[in-house]
Amino acid sequence: MDITAALEALRAVRVLEAIASGDLTTRQLDMLGYRDAGSWTRLADVYFGPTRHRRLQEAARRAGADLSLDALRVVERHTRKLLPGAAVTPWELRVELCALRGTVAEIDRQAAARVRELNRAVDDAETKAYGRRSVKGGKNTDALGLRTITMTGPERHITALLAHLRPTAEKLRRADPRLSHEQALFDAVFATGTGPAGPVPPVPLVVATVPDGVRLLRREGDDTLFGLSDGTTMTGTALVEQIMADHHYVGLYDPVEGPVDLYRSRRTASTKQRILLAGESLLCEGPECTTPADECEVHHLTAWSQGGDTNVKNLTMVCRVHNARNDDDPHAPPRNGRLERRPGGVVFLPPDGGPPRTNRHPLRRLSARGLLNA
Ligand SMILES: [Zn+2]
Repeated sequence: MDITAALEALRAVRVLEAIASGDLTTRQLDMLGYRDAGSWTRLADVYFGPTRHRRLQEAARRAGADLSLDALRVVERHTRKLLPGAAVTPWELRVELCALRGTVAEIDRQAAARVRELNRAVDDAETKAYGRRSVKGGKNTDALGLRTITMTGPERHITALLAHLRPTAEKLRRADPRLSHEQALFDAVFATGTGPAGPVPPVPLVVATVPDGVRLLRREGDDTLFGLSDGTTMTGTALVEQIMADHHYVGLYDPVEGPVDLYRSRRTASTKQRILLAGESLLCEGPECTTPADECEVHHLTAWSQGGDTNVKNLTMVCRVHNARNDDDPHAPPRNGRLERRPGGVVFLPPDGGPPRTNRHPLRRLSARGLLNA
């Protein structure tokens, strides 16, 4: 196939048809390196999946035959912003937006303007739009060590918030003329009385490996018992005292078994498990997920309903979304895939039986698991 034919074959509708018909599986896409193909599968569902609007679905495919996957993704994003009660249905809008031509940025702007126009005419548009208010992001650190949050809300809320911050920002700029308007607004958010308190001091967690010649025996009461190669036994407390004395938390991780136990001066069983598990992964175990472990839920790898215990070996930190999506019954037909603990860490088993995947976020290198596997 020459390059022109290859690009021709990459048109959104042709790729989505291949996905919908099963000619192209997510596993194949994964092996070809298309790691963002999850959104293609969702698009294939929309444009080729079952619907009560077959005629309009076909019309949308015809209108969008020339569009790239990026352009079709933009069309879909704007279609989802159409409010209920608009003059056209979502399917009629799709047909209309699929007929747009230009660069992806041009299609993006034209589609936004069209949907805004339609939404403006909807009764109660403001109340309906209010449901979409959000603060998003704040989870990814860029090369400068900065994070960005995006706040979305009705015009008057955002204007009111900025109006509230502006006097403080202007006072700060008068005191320091080198401050830009944007910098001063940021400072105003954190100025006394108007915003959140400063950052919470971090608690260091020290990762310790179970030394050679020491074997994990069993849990005994609130502690873990280890067998030593000289035939004696030792509690985890004594073992950790030997490793180091005055760190706040010492988490003990076994390279094969995973988290073993956590030690500190005063013990609290459940927070102890949370800290030990959070330190193991630092982030949700869902591949590509960026939710920090502190915001995650404790997930039972073998579900409670399947007889899974609440011991650390059977637990891991997973965000609310990935916890809800996990296939808890390993014998049921796979739907979304499931997490499993293997030697070396927790892995995600995709629903199509493809190779196990892990969360490869760069931060993971600093987790207990990352340090042990390094
Ligand atoms: Zn997640």
